[in-house]
Amino acid sequence: MKLDTPVQYVKGVGPAIAQRLERLGILTVGQLICHYPRRYIDYTQPCTISQAPSDAEVVIRAQVLLKKPATRIAGGRTLIQLVVEDETSTMTVSWFNTQYMAQQMLVGETYYFVGRVRGSASRREMTNPTVRTPAQVARNPLSAIYPQTEGLSSGVIARCIQNALAVTDPLPEPLPPDYLSRFRMPDKWTAVRHIHQPSSPAAMAASRRRLVFEELFVLQLGLSLLKSRGMTQSGAPMRPVGLSPFWESLPFSPTSAQKKASEQICADMTGKRPMNRLLQGDVGSGKTLVAAAATYMAVQNGYQTALMAPTEILATQHASGLQKLLEPFGIQVALLTGGMRAAARRATLEAIASGEAQLVVGTHAVIGQKVEFAQLGLVVVDEQHRFGVQQRGLLADKARSPHVLVMSATPIPRTLGLLMYGDLDISILDELPPGRKPVKTYAVTQNKRRQMYHFLDDQIGQGRQAYIVCPLVEESTSENPTTDNLHAVTTYYTDVAQALLPNRRIGLMHGKLKAKEKAQVMEDFKSGKLDALVSTTVIEVGVDVPNASVIVIENAERYGLSALHQLRGRVGRGNSEAFCILVSDHGSSSVKERLHFLCQTQDGFEVARYDLEHRGPGDFFGNRQHGLPTLQLADLMGDTRVLEVAQDCAHQLLQQDPKLKLPEHAALADAVQQLFERTTFN
Ligand code: ADP
Ligand code: MG
Repeated sequence: MKLDTPVQYVKGVGPAIAQRLERLGILTVGQLICHYPRRYIDYTQPCTISQAPSDAEVVIRAQVLLKKPATRIAGGRTLIQLVVEDETSTMTVSWFNTQYMAQQMLVGETYYFVGRVRGSASRREMTNPTVRTPAQVARNPLSAIYPQTEGLSSGVIARCIQNALAVTDPLPEPLPPDYLSRFRMPDKWTAVRHIHQPSSPAAMAASRRRLVFEELFVLQLGLSLLKSRGMTQSGAPMRPVGLSPFWESLPFSPTSAQKKASEQICADMTGKRPMNRLLQGDVGSGKTLVAAAATYMAVQNGYQTALMAPTEILATQHASGLQKLLEPFGIQVALLTGGMRAAARRATLEAIASGEAQLVVGTHAVIGQKVEFAQLGLVVVDEQHRFGVQQRGLLADKARSPHVLVMSATPIPRTLGLLMYGDLDISILDELPPGRKPVKTYAVTQNKRRQMYHFLDDQIGQGRQAYIVCPLVEESTSENPTTDNLHAVTTYYTDVAQALLPNRRIGLMHGKLKAKEKAQVMEDFKSGKLDALVSTTVIEVGVDVPNASVIVIENAERYGLSALHQLRGRVGRGNSEAFCILVSDHGSSSVKERLHFLCQTQDGFEVARYDLEHRGPGDFFGNRQHGLPTLQLADLMGDTRVLEVAQDCAHQLLQQDPKLKLPEHAALADAVQQLFERTTFN
């Protein structure tokens, strides 16, 4: 059977199953056999009855001691029971309504039972286990489990794949032939057969490694090809500039981490290649100051800087904050946002085109087609994880050769960092400005809301300010989520916040306000005209009002830990005590555990790690955010070693064949095409 034969011609795949497979993106036999298992039941390492943990599925190898006669029980069901024994203990095995299995089993024979062992130490039991004979296990020591989706059980998928493997043509080998011997990897066809039906754990591991390698290699080739579109020219060359005048102009001393990062940036910008650096630092570590130092250097060299922020609120704040920092040096700062009036926008665009505006701050608008720079030398992207890989490409196109500095509070696991940024250099701000105290974090239930508002009132009485992040409306149940969210936030504002803080000045902030209104509310909060700010998560990143001492987050269960950590970072930006109160009535233990974890931890890296481990990178860096294609097998936390090798290989290969045009690389070029077709890069 040819690899591009439609799946419905495989034995066991009827039209109904074919339709369900189609929803998984599986149309052809070739695609079917490249649908890999998620895990295995490993029969080679059975557990003993006495040592079986109660909370996990285990494999038990035991001999049948006794078959009890089938009995009828309530509800007309039939109960069949066996007593089995291994070298440590005995166990009762029960089935409901599945006579067939038990009838086949013989007293005195040994079988493998897969399930959960329950009951006390003296009365172990297992219900409805899967059973295998030793002969079956010898043929198939690891049995593949496929993700159950679209009404397809793992068993059905396994059978279809087995049937397909038996009749299909071998898969072609996309990797250069010397890789197989060099890295001692099986060829693709062997690896694919073994990943579905491994002959041993070692064969499975070798096949998985091989397929992960291919996946990461192809991904890296694709990313490098994407990046090379426009990143090849050399950067805006700069001469070294001493930063002392800048540091001396500040009301405080820079931390040594800020100084070090700034020096690394200066060194990059005097080099021949354009800078491509990630500045990573936890919320509040002072990344903006480093951006200001870099701008100072670019401007001293006669170049303009563009700084992009993910929200208008943040862009506005950066424009005024940076203006203060750079004013002593006569540096002209311009703010460019989507909501500007036509006349103001025209004037700003002119100032940018003439070079009069030396630092341009804005949202995505800054890389819009109509913005012409006189002499753009440096691009700073704040909170990079909000921008996709593709926008970076656009940037590179915009100013043929700018230095690029991306700043992020989200610690990116090394693997993902390597993938997203390839050869990006990394500076880390591993030090907070002196005097910062941990933000005291509490998780409370709704019935503490009154007390909580008393506490807010008390803080306000002491001259401090509060953020209240508002409940969200469940988006999936709503026809019009944005309007409903607006409704939720305004209702909360009047019925809860104003009612419980009757004598305080409370502002309201949400995404539906006009840019000017947002700026006004933010300005009022910053200048202390407002005591509290009820807001949606538009304030999530970057907002800096050091006098705010409390942040309340309603419906805290709706957010990932990294988002909560970002929100928490809005307070504790000065030297005094700060508080974060997470409100949630959600009873599930995983939610409680998650919130409790945040109460115990201030370290953003720990938070990100927890998020990744518990929700998976797909959630954490939602696909749209990181813009990477979905990977089937590779584990971004675990496969770092393989990734590094794959990256080296990809770079070498592209040196020989920069556009992947050689005929012997046609299969690879196809694989790249296919992987990236699943993701849109526009
Ligand atoms: P983030 O890294 O989260 O972007 P910001 O750049 O917004 O942090 O800085 C957080 C706060 O710390 C700001 O109010 C800023 O003025 C202040 N800050 C930055 N660097 C220092 C420093 N070296 N000493 C004291 N305060 C600082
Ligand atoms: Mg910031």
